[in-house]
Amino acid sequence: DLEIAVKVVIVGNGAVGKSSMIQRFCKGVFTRDYKKTIGVDFLERIIEVNCEEVRLMLWDTAGQEEFDAITKAYYRGAQAAVLAFSTVDRVSFDAIRSWKKKVEDECGEIPMVIVQNKIDLVDQAVVDAEEVEMLARELHCRLYRTSVKEDLNVRQVFQYLAEKYLSQ
Ligand code: GDP
Ligand code: MG
Repeated sequence: DLEIAVKVVIVGNGAVGKSSMIQRFCKGVFTRDYKKTIGVDFLERIIEVNCEEVRLMLWDTAGQEEFDAITKAYYRGAQAAVLAFSTVDRVSFDAIRSWKKKVEDECGEIPMVIVQNKIDLVDQAVVDAEEVEMLARELHCRLYRTSVKEDLNVRQVFQYLAEKYLSQ
């Protein structure tokens, strides 16, 4: 079986929209109060990259982000990562550097992308577009602005990570 499977971890502070993003991408729905409390550690979706099928396994955290209690098992074998923050949560933006470091400490140099979610709330933004772009440049990560709520740019994030993973 030549199928390629890629483990992707989605990190960031609580409430930035990680679980919603996984749910959206894997099931195509936006559920306002989706909570990962039981059952699966990851959801998966098969996408096509350069005419090859790639199985993306998107690993969710169980809401313990703020306690620095994400287990080693969560990061183990991760091959790509999403660093997510919210347009309306300054603290989540300021935490992106430390999330990147955490991923690097656990996984080494793997493809990463910065995601500014909740872009539908841009009227209430607590970060400048420019400072976000500066951070992305500094951290050598591509930046995507997404709205999980409006299904904007979500697919593109995972397509990019899969392509980047395959091209290394
Ligand atoms: P997590 O803690 O990072 O997993 O965040 P959740 O996925 O649980 O989402 C936290 C809250 O933000 C929920 O009420 C979601 O409905 C909401 N949310 C997620 N994505 C968006 C978005 O793109 N726009 C808006 N307005 N709300 C969102
Ligand atoms: Mg969650």
